[in-house]
Amino acid sequence: VNPSHSEAHYRLGKSDVFHFECTACGDCCRGDIDIFLNAQDLWRMLGFTGFSAVRELFDASLVTRHSLKGGGYRPKIKFKTRPAVFCPFLENSISEENELKGNCKLHPTYKPLVCKTAPFGRVIDDTGENQWWFTEPISGCPGCAGLKTNSVSDLIGEHSSDFVLEQRYFEVLDHLQSIYAPISEWDRFHFGIRIDERVEDYIERWKTERPKAS
Ligand code: SF4
Ligand code: SF4
Repeated sequence: VNPSHSEAHYRLGKSDVFHFECTACGDCCRGDIDIFLNAQDLWRMLGFTGFSAVRELFDASLVTRHSLKGGGYRPKIKFKTRPAVFCPFLENSISEENELKGNCKLHPTYKPLVCKTAPFGRVIDDTGENQWWFTEPISGCPGCAGLKTNSVSDLIGEHSSDFVLEQRYFEVLDHLQSIYAPISEWDRFHFGIRIDERVEDYIERWKTERPKAS
């Protein structure tokens, strides 16, 4: 999920396959990890929590701001820090073999895109083209020893609408950065995501209400 914690990190072609099978150990949901959320992820989290607007996710300390170099921020999950550092949506358990396991309470319906597709992920290059990458979720992830064959084209197909919507979300962030919008405008955009409006409709509506360059 977070390249800075990873060993294996390599580019995939559309016709490639890779071997991976998650063992649900939960190790990539613990520790110093950033799980960034796109607009659709935030909307889905509303569905899970029962909140009606994204402001409530921030108020409940489930989501926090991660400052970006060029200004503004990305929302990310706010990890718990006691008794250890772990995602608030992780359900820890001990297996019959006495191993620590971890199940995601958001799985599968409400799970953030980055968690849903890991170790597979998308990077948009400077020309706006999609690049597909394998990124070991965390150093030593036991899933990397798994033999299950995963097809890149299947994964792209399965998540294509989420990737497209995420790209539209990134365009909103790019615009906010390009006009040096104050944090209050970044908040206005994110807090305005509501459970009773489809994210694609909201992003379309935002275009007419978004701030202009001063
Ligand atoms: S560390 Fe690897 S095997 Fe463990 S939960 Fe994460 S992806 Fe699955
Ligand atoms: S949202 Fe789920 S999969 Fe993602 S870090 Fe949290 S517990 Fe793990």
